[in-house]
Amino acid sequence: MKKIFDDLLCEAHRFYDRLPALQAFAPWPQDLRYDPLPPVQNPAGGHILAWHSDDPLHQAIQQTVPHANWRQSYRQDEVGTHFLNHYGWLELYGPHGHFHSDTARAYIAYWGKGIFYPRHRHEAEEIYSVVSGSACFEADGRAPVEKVPGGTVTHLSNEPHALTAGNDAFLAFILWRGAGLGGVPALD
Ligand code: ZN
Repeated sequence: MKKIFDDLLCEAHRFYDRLPALQAFAPWPQDLRYDPLPPVQNPAGGHILAWHSDDPLHQAIQQTVPHANWRQSYRQDEVGTHFLNHYGWLELYGPHGHFHSDTARAYIAYWGKGIFYPRHRHEAEEIYSVVSGSACFEADGRAPVEKVPGGTVTHLSNEPHALTAGNDAFLAFILWRGAGLGGVPALD
């Protein structure tokens, strides 16, 4: 099992090494140690498995789907059933990740075609990067911006933000940094 997550970590690191914006946002952590987490499934896994791509990080994510600790940040009464049926994330590394780190946090996250992720905020600063598909990002005072694979968007501490996944869904690699690293997002 560790090998599957080692492979995912390796492909995520290669992806990180190709994107200067990620490197500028946070260093690759040096304190990573594999932490076996129980597999937990949610609907995102099936959608990811059904989504063909030649991208090596996308494929490494697919390999981990049955073994990953998939999570959702919200309840049905907050975001509705349709959202929860097309959304999920795993913590690749961080305080509660498949690799433990006290200094950094990274997620793999999925939103299905056309899913709107409403305004939310969190104390930690954040950078989204697009692995597959696309998304349109919104934040106060900025024009909405669409990002495709390799594109990045940053959010400040406690800055409200929202996104809408594109017609090919949206698979993201996300980093957090700073105060609130172990925190959770809240709808605005
Ligand atoms: Zn965010």
